[in-house]
Amino acid sequence: MGTGMGMSMGMGMSMDPHAIRVFGAVHRYHQGPGAIGLAGEVAASLGRQPLLVADEIVHGLVFDTAAAACRRHDLDLRWVAVRGDVTRAAVQRLVAEARVGGRQPDVVLAAGGGKGVDTGKAVSRELGARLVVLPTSASNDGPCSKAFVYYDDAHRMASVEFLPRNPDAVLVDTNLLVQAPRALLVSGIGDALCKLYEGEQTRNNGGLNLFGGAGTIAAQQISVACDRVIREDAVEGLEALAAARPTPAFERLTEALVLLSGLAFENSGLSLAHSLTRGLPLAEGSETTLHGFHVGYGLLVQFILEQRSPDFMARQLAFHRAVGLAVNLAGLGVHDTGAATIRRIADGTMASPHLKHFQRPLSAADFENAMQRLEQLTA
Ligand SMILES: [Zn+2]
Repeated sequence: MGTGMGMSMGMGMSMDPHAIRVFGAVHRYHQGPGAIGLAGEVAASLGRQPLLVADEIVHGLVFDTAAAACRRHDLDLRWVAVRGDVTRAAVQRLVAEARVGGRQPDVVLAAGGGKGVDTGKAVSRELGARLVVLPTSASNDGPCSKAFVYYDDAHRMASVEFLPRNPDAVLVDTNLLVQAPRALLVSGIGDALCKLYEGEQTRNNGGLNLFGGAGTIAAQQISVACDRVIREDAVEGLEALAAARPTPAFERLTEALVLLSGLAFENSGLSLAHSLTRGLPLAEGSETTLHGFHVGYGLLVQFILEQRSPDFMARQLAFHRAVGLAVNLAGLGVHDTGAATIRRIADGTMASPHLKHFQRPLSAADFENAMQRLEQLTA
């Protein structure tokens, strides 16, 4: 997630947004084995007519537990089925379905990886309902954020959208997350690992965060903690997947990927690592590679453009390899790494709104050179 511009705060001309610190966050975050059993208590605190928005597979994973939890609080949980991409038309269909019989759901439970959560966010906004997010993997920074993405019918990103406020609650059931495919967790690691470094570039270069204000000490410290936990716990946390049982390292890693990563990007801002996600999908082979792998690669390109030392680069490459992140284009599924491909990626990257969050202006040629350099480093 995270291609949005700062929102206008609608302030008077006399107020400089760079002088106003702002921090926004999910209202309540619960994480641990069985956390989905809190769905009833949480939904009952927010409304009377809960609605699960999820695809059929996720429905199979969460509905029985969530519905039983709702019944204990005299709530009847209904479900509308997500099919395909998060498009405006798909969301309108689900909203109409949710209102059948004159009903007016007032709490949306948005469940899934990326699509289910984003669709649920969109449906909650259309209904004017409260929002509880139930992620089924730690694959990205979306669950705690107020942002989501609309796609068009050709599966291309159409727009970045914002909810009027962050989710009311996020329930992260680590018994579920520990059963998700390894690639999803690795993607979440890539999406979270860049946050400290993108945030630093934003902070150091006068950028605004996604709430349209200056960053805080809180946001900076959260970003540092996010980085530290990933470096310390990612390898051990990934091992929990084999036994399908959450361990302390898995719990710490999950908090870093879902809570800290989300807080970090919204409250700090994005820079080059996420800018590469504009260009990389234009290279044949990488279209289906998960977001966090693109961002993880983008972070290495950012480090090269930051002119980091050979020692620093060697440590970064070793960590990427240890967790299974891509260190070059082949790792993203791009097999034609000729100059034309690299130029196409660089040109696409230049469309990113985050390029201004960097220590100097960059050209497409700068990105081409950095990507070539990374190919040489990892040959
Ligand atoms: Zn992201």
